[in-house]
Amino acid sequence: MNTASAEPAAKRNLPPKGWPRTWALFRRAISRRCPQCGAKGIFKNYLELRVTCPTCAYRFDREEGYFLGGYGLGVVFSALIPLILLVLAFVYTDWSWITLELIFIPMTIIMPLILFPYTRTFWMMIDLIIDPNEKTEGQLRHHHLQER
Ligand SMILES: [Zn+2]
Repeated sequence: MNTASAEPAAKRNLPPKGWPRTWALFRRAISRRCPQCGAKGIFKNYLELRVTCPTCAYRFDREEGYFLGGYGLGVVFSALIPLILLVLAFVYTDWSWITLELIFIPMTIIMPLILFPYTRTFWMMIDLIIDPNEKTEGQLRHHHLQER
């Protein structure tokens, strides 16, 4: 076959720094695509993230407990989004409390499930903005020497 497919990492095209990188990461997070190559299909189903990208072979969990930060995002946004919508509905509509309860209690239950895949893609976005992973051997060795 062709030689391009032999090296999946060559398909990674994330800009190295600055706004182009942040913008690419944001677009990929919100459309649930691979942060490194922008390919679709990184989830097995709505909720389950694959271990590696089927297109560029990027490994999504960069270390043990990597997605704990994603759970934090999930907790915050699962509470925050219904709360903001509730305040808006309260201010701008004349819906009764019963109507508000019928809308917002199920929403609060369903929201963590709907948001779950996004907490993973957005966590990868935040992590790759804070800590770009294109580290060379030399940089890693330098880092270890400084720790001594
Ligand atoms: Zn990829």
